[in-house]
Amino acid sequence: CGIVGYIGQEDSKEILLTGLEKLEYRGYDSAGIAVRDEADMNLFKVKGRIANLREEVDESVSANIGIGHTRWATHGEPSTANAHPHQSTSGRFTLVHNGVIENFEELKRDYLADVNFVSETDTEIIVQLIEKFTNELGDRLQAFRKTISLLHGSYALAVLDREQPDVVFVAKNKSPLLVGLGDDFNVVASDSMAMLQVTDQFVELMDGEVVLVKQDEVEIQKLDGTTVERDPFTAEIDA
Ligand code: GLU
Repeated sequence: CGIVGYIGQEDSKEILLTGLEKLEYRGYDSAGIAVRDEADMNLFKVKGRIANLREEVDESVSANIGIGHTRWATHGEPSTANAHPHQSTSGRFTLVHNGVIENFEELKRDYLADVNFVSETDTEIIVQLIEKFTNELGDRLQAFRKTISLLHGSYALAVLDREQPDVVFVAKNKSPLLVGLGDDFNVVASDSMAMLQVTDQFVELMDGEVVLVKQDEVEIQKLDGTTVERDPFTAEIDA
């Protein structure tokens, strides 16, 4: 299973699909991407192989921000409905997640009793919490922070906001996740292998950080909002 993300000036879908293919070795049962073009958020997901996802993706969509996922199902059978990305009820937020949210039933009961869920995953609560807290707090970053602070378990996640598609929000806990740096673009990946096609400069992320990946800047923050500086490393290309 794995995660990829791209923000820049090029069409993201080929970079995402190629990235997911490079993550195939990790194993998966379904896959999907979400890309935001001028008009809307576009979601494509399938049960099965990346080759099937390629067929599903609308070639005419061109978008310079997107996220992708290969799923290894832990909660809910492998199916199109349970495949990631998952969206909040209004469609504003779109999210991919690797890992397991151990307290998802509790969070659902405590915060999301009135929400209609469309999947059987533990993941969907995360994106619904982000939407709920954004509505309550009026600030998506604060909402993302609050959501992260409530999660117990393992996660690598990436989130898009349809209303303001200028950033990929990411966070991790006990699951691998890297940010890759480029000229006029930045990427996200579970493994540098997925993005060696576009860069060999990567920044490691630590558990509990909230990271704003923008086209020309990567901002790493602690949960209290203070920023962290971290130098990139050069990823080795295996022969
Ligand atoms: N627990 C999530 C699910 O079952 C994510 C699984 C994964 O890591 O791919 O959808």
